Amino acid sequence: SVVGWIRRAARSRGLGTAVARAASTRGRAVPPKFGIADPWSALRSVGQWRGEIWNRRKDGEIYAEWLTISTVNDAAGQTTHYVAIFSDATQLKPSQERMDFLPNHDALTGLPNRILLQDRLSQAIRRAQRERGRLALLFVDLDRFKKVNDTLGHEVGDRLLEAVARRLGERLRGADTLSRLGGDEFLILLDGHSSAAGAAAAAQACLDLLRSPLQIDTHAIPLSASIGISLYPTDGMDAETLIRSADLAMYHAKERGRGNYQFHAPEMSIAAQEQHALENALRGALARGELGLLYQPQIELATGHLWGVEALARWAHPDLGAVAPERFIPVAERIGLIGELGEWVLTEACRQLVRWRTAGFAVPRIAVNVSIQQLARSNLLPTLQRCLVESGLVPEDLEVEVTESVIVGDNARVITALSDLRSLGISLVVDDFGTGACALGRINRVPIDRLKIHGSFIRCIGRGQSEEAITRAIIDLGRDLGLAVIAEGVEREDQSAFLQAAGCRLAQGYLFGEPMDADALGVYLGRAAVH
Ligand code: C2E
Ligand code: CA
Ligand code: CA
Repeated sequence: SVVGWIRRAARSRGLGTAVARAASTRGRAVPPKFGIADPWSALRSVGQWRGEIWNRRKDGEIYAEWLTISTVNDAAGQTTHYVAIFSDATQLKPSQERMDFLPNHDALTGLPNRILLQDRLSQAIRRAQRERGRLALLFVDLDRFKKVNDTLGHEVGDRLLEAVARRLGERLRGADTLSRLGGDEFLILLDGHSSAAGAAAAAQACLDLLRSPLQIDTHAIPLSASIGISLYPTDGMDAETLIRSADLAMYHAKERGRGNYQFHAPEMSIAAQEQHALENALRGALARGELGLLYQPQIELATGHLWGVEALARWAHPDLGAVAPERFIPVAERIGLIGELGEWVLTEACRQLVRWRTAGFAVPRIAVNVSIQQLARSNLLPTLQRCLVESGLVPEDLEVEVTESVIVGDNARVITALSDLRSLGISLVVDDFGTGACALGRINRVPIDRLKIHGSFIRCIGRGQSEEAITRAIIDLGRDLGLAVIAEGVEREDQSAFLQAAGCRLAQGYLFGEPMDADALGVYLGRAAVH
């Protein structure tokens, strides 16, 4: 085994390096004192393992050995050798690595200790500050660990802690840090963009991981844990405060009967629960017929004629009432429902256009919103084709609205999808134009048909000179590129007059009509025909 080989090599030389051929060291070997990380998986994934092992001298004395194992690959990427660099940690004059490792790691589990965790947490906070990111800290405390120690002895207790460390380590993602504070306390730093709901899910996963008993020798030891959660920036702006908040929250979890998790701010528990409930409710919403569409007229400024309608999704939640798309579209994206939802929107929009026309209302076209996730994840093109075939509509009846960031982004799949639907003959509108990371040089990568000026500019007409200048510039840009420009969020006559004078062709907003259901739009059109 690799351990035997390391031990032999170490014993014969005391200090130095050893090389072993990969073939002779294959197989699983997890020595008891290797600490938490399985050296084989570390070697496989990052090509290196570092840690401390306990060794025995010829005279029987036990000593600490500081060891680095690296893999050596051939040109084909196959591991041919392992190189071990080891040193008698008790004798060696303090090398930098040892100085780095020993004070920062927990001797029992090999996990980062409080000092290192605080360091990593501070780094993560600085990064989150820069990038406006979020962090979550999970304070994990085993329930009734003292009882295990008292009844089965410290040796079993230590082994149990090692096993817990291993289990908790299983579900960590790359940027996460698991550390041991001492005793039966562990801290998990969830890096990246950890929302309250994400932290709650991670805490639940930890509780689930610990649910099945741990086998130590002949003992199957049932375990549970109490977890406290603190969030950056809500519960603290520095490492110490965040740890303290998570610790406090952990005590709440103990008070609530152990084996559960709690947030530091109680409203977070509620928010996370609500989010969870929202996700579950949305899963069944389509089947229960709770999703609906409203339609908002788009008019031609010069004539006042209807140019088309935009379909806007609504969710009639049984308890919450009408839920805005800004709230449920991101949820649908997160839980992988956006493809299905988007397909429903497209199908329903096409059917409705046919219904109006059958009823004698001349609705020239219908626009639907499509999110970047929808373009990246679902297969939009076949859906569009199916909708056209089923409804008997022509591609010119349909417009797809995507935000500016979608167009200038770097997702090749998205760009291809957009070009494909455009080549079908479906018009492409750049929504919220002027707000994204507008890279004018990049918008012509995708053949677009229309620019839609974001409502925030329109709102400032008559008040903000720079917004007026941007509005004019977008209209001029559209004219030069041969793209019709539409203004959204037009609420007042003076805004409409400004746009018309500036040469804007199309407009949409409360001034002309709020989003309304299909029947109301029929009434609206009937009224318009009378006048
Ligand atoms: P959007 O496409 O920019 O839609 C314009 C939003 O402004 C709509 O909000 C509309 O109700 C509102 N609005 C219209 N006229 C006025 C006005 O004169 N003044 C003001 N203050 N607001 C006005 P809504 O319906 O809540 O939709 C919000 C966003 O949700 C939409 O922004 C769109 O990005 C997204 N969305 C809506 N339906 C869908 C959908 O079916 N799929 C996807 N992926 N996204 C959708
Ligand atoms: Ca839109
Ligand atoms: Ca918009």
